[in-house]
Amino acid sequence: MTNKQKETTVIVGGGHAAGALLTTLLQKNYQQEVVLVGEEPHPPYQRPPLSKDYLAGEVDQASLYLKPCSVYENSGHQLRLGVRAKEIDRDNKTITLSDHGTLQYDRLVLATGSQVRRLNAPGADLKGIHYLHDIADSDALHEELVPGKRLVIVGGGYIGLEVAASAIKKGVHVTVLEAAERLMQRVTGPEISAFFYDKHRSAGVDVRLNTAVTGFEAGDQGHVAGVTLGEGSTIPADTVLVSIGIIPETALAEAAGLPCDDGIIVDEFTRTEDPAILAIGDCTQHRNLFFTNRQRLESVANAVDQARTAAATLMGEEKPYDSVPWFWSNQYDVRLQMVGLSQNHDQRVIRGSPLDKAFAVFYLRKGCVIAVDAINLPIAFMVGKALVRQHKKISPELLKDPDIELKSLVSSPQTSS
Ligand SMILES: Cc1cc2nc3c(=O)[nH]c(=O)nc-3n(C[C@H](O)[C@H](O)[C@H](O)COP(=O)(O)OP(=O)(O)OC[C@H]3O[C@@H](n4cnc5c(N)ncnc54)[C@H](O)[C@@H]3O)c2cc1C
Repeated sequence: MTNKQKETTVIVGGGHAAGALLTTLLQKNYQQEVVLVGEEPHPPYQRPPLSKDYLAGEVDQASLYLKPCSVYENSGHQLRLGVRAKEIDRDNKTITLSDHGTLQYDRLVLATGSQVRRLNAPGADLKGIHYLHDIADSDALHEELVPGKRLVIVGGGYIGLEVAASAIKKGVHVTVLEAAERLMQRVTGPEISAFFYDKHRSAGVDVRLNTAVTGFEAGDQGHVAGVTLGEGSTIPADTVLVSIGIIPETALAEAAGLPCDDGIIVDEFTRTEDPAILAIGDCTQHRNLFFTNRQRLESVANAVDQARTAAATLMGEEKPYDSVPWFWSNQYDVRLQMVGLSQNHDQRVIRGSPLDKAFAVFYLRKGCVIAVDAINLPIAFMVGKALVRQHKKISPELLKDPDIELKSLVSSPQTSS
């Protein structure tokens, strides 16, 4: 500790994780001085509505903010917005800022999030080609959602599909191009992919799978006029959204010599190898006691839960991170809720029927429930959370039997499959 009365904790990044950390510290009556440095001009806000109701113009900007500005103003802590942290000097514990200022820190938390993955193809710089990550992106895309316009979405992941649902409701002609053989392939199983494929097709979206984009065709005044495909054809477009994933924002950490490998490497207490520096949220490759391998997750739940872990670490409580990951996506009248990570499953059990528009897929590995994806079935998500946490072994017959109450499975003894 220096000869100052209080230590200074600097949080770099003004997104969901940074906002959740500051809020948790306020709730816990953290006695040190906190300075939050955020590149965007807004106070910490939630991004999920940017592809859903905010994009559709159904909610206003203030509703995105995690807390009203007055909460920060009255907190005694500082928000330095519209300012980028450019460099960390770990020896002197200082940060250089884009406004030429310098900040001294005792503890530093990196919550730098992610940046969108760019498509490197001929014509990628044409006007009218959008990406979606922040409020400004969502505002710009919203302007394009005009009845009769042709929107081509490159990427059939959850953000691209949420935009497709928002856009078609506005009378926009929407085409989704997905290189893989099914939608949301990276995060979900074939039954959920097929359900969303049918849902989008029946809403009027032209969904094309196994379709690789090779470039963009120019129209008047440097504006995009079409998207060219691998087999040589072109799809006419007035507007394009490229939504092909994100990459963790690690440049600041890497330049400071912190170990990174597809994310800033942190332990289960959110600590980097430098005892003075923590990292949380989308930018991390982290230890979670729930898993044996390190993970990098892109979700609000992870941002918030890691923020809570970091708050505990800052306050000397050392509560290790062991949350079960969960996620959601809203498209049309469908709420998809996912818990656990399904990638290594060896069996899928379906409860209910996609035809009823309310069903769940249980993912099992060696008989244990490792993940659940629920469509309009919140009870399956809630019960799934408990089953996944318990690594519960349950017979597939019980999971799919509509006469068995899902809740009863949580307290039932383990059953062999
Ligand atoms: C359109 C969209 C829809 C989504 N929908 C869902 C959903 O339905 N459910 C869900 O769970 N998740 C969803 N997500 C993901 C979720 O929003 C992210 O996982 C979450 O925001 C991660 O929080 P974060 O704080 O780690 O990063 P971010 O929220 O990305 O915040 C990082 C912030 O750090 C700032 N920053 C970066 N570098 C610096 C620097 N050097 N100096 C100062 N500031 C810096 C950035 O400008 C940014 O504001 C969605 C994301 C998007 C973009």
